[in-house]
Amino acid sequence: MALWRGKPVAVAAAVALAACAARTEQSAPSTAAAGETRDIMSSIADRYVALVLALGVHDPDYVDAYYGPPEKRAEAEAQKLPLPRIRESAVSLLSALKAAKPSGDELAILRHQYLTRQLQALVTRVDMLSGVKMSFDEESQALYDAKAPHLGEDHFRPILAELDRLLPGPGPLIERYTAFRGGFVIPKDRLDAVFTAAIDGCRRRTLPHVDLPAGETFTVEYVTGKAWSAYNWYQGGFRSVIQVNTELPIAIDRAIDLACHEGYPGHHVYNALLEKHLVRERGWPELTVYPLFSPQSLIAEGTANYGIEVAFPGDERLRFEREHLYPLAGLDPARAAEYDQVRRLVDRLAYAGNEAARRYLEGRIDAAGAAAWLEQYALMPADRARQRIRFFDQYRSYVLNYNLGQDMVRAYIESRGGTPDRPEVRWREFTRLLASPRLPGGLDAAR
Ligand SMILES: [Zn+2]
Repeated sequence: MALWRGKPVAVAAAVALAACAARTEQSAPSTAAAGETRDIMSSIADRYVALVLALGVHDPDYVDAYYGPPEKRAEAEAQKLPLPRIRESAVSLLSALKAAKPSGDELAILRHQYLTRQLQALVTRVDMLSGVKMSFDEESQALYDAKAPHLGEDHFRPILAELDRLLPGPGPLIERYTAFRGGFVIPKDRLDAVFTAAIDGCRRRTLPHVDLPAGETFTVEYVTGKAWSAYNWYQGGFRSVIQVNTELPIAIDRAIDLACHEGYPGHHVYNALLEKHLVRERGWPELTVYPLFSPQSLIAEGTANYGIEVAFPGDERLRFEREHLYPLAGLDPARAAEYDQVRRLVDRLAYAGNEAARRYLEGRIDAAGAAAWLEQYALMPADRARQRIRFFDQYRSYVLNYNLGQDMVRAYIESRGGTPDRPEVRWREFTRLLASPRLPGGLDAAR
């Protein structure tokens, strides 16, 4: 790691901000003071962006998206601020933030909470890169503001027993399931047609409910050699690059999953709404950068997963797959219901992935043990289990953002009246969440 000796600009700026904020607190509330708080928040937000970019120089996975001024990134790369300096600056900035009392509407209050929690997570990530070891729960709490429930083998056994009945025959269940799923794989030469139709279906169901910015668009690329199955790289300007990993066979259900999750109403819509409402309308620079290892990821992944059932409620998904995607994939539509029934059960095994990650990352099982656990309790074939363990190595406790995030987002939306029988309320509350800087802690508090 390169050492850097430079001017302590960041620390000096943060201390000055803290002093300035303290003055604001002492003075009587006035328009001038409110204006000053706004200025302080803008300065803090600028420094936050600079620190996220500075940490991104050390950690290539950290900055998931950035579409602010390119000079800022170039500056961070040129400075190569050392980790201890990044930490110091972040801690100073947190003090400045504490002194700057939030004022304004609900979004302004959420903004203050957002910057606080995002900065605390940044400090944790610096600590991890500096060698600090944490338990799985400590890490997920510090980075994502959430802890996954501890579920033993007994939790998954009844679901596996049900699958065992649905997929009769000799041999272990994982083999029977793998063979069954093999009959629903999208042939490679039909993948683009199926995926294009799936995104189109997700977009059509989203547009009537979400006021998307004009000109929003995306491109799709097919890649291999990644630890993930698909990725949205948000470019700013309401554009996304969606990459789909074709290394492993892609079964028919993954088309809707990936299209909704990465596109509509998932990551593409989330990022476009944040840019439209918070970056452009309010001028908040902090949303131009998205640090992956941060509480924002639980909201991003949770809404992206929950968005699937919002876009395709009840049996609508099965109907769409049977009528549109099965024929495009050259699969027999008559078998769609049978496959859907199995898929719903396998989805309920998602928490087994968290358990494998917890045990593996805490050193209680090795890679072979984690693969065995994933095969037995998450019904992942060996090649998919190996890919998932690469994901654990690279992204660690990030895994819980998908399923726990989905459950937390659902509970939040339903607590606000957005139940499945009230689709209009559900879409409204879901869209409000997507267009806000609300973090996991804010999902609990609002219940
Ligand atoms: Zn995602």
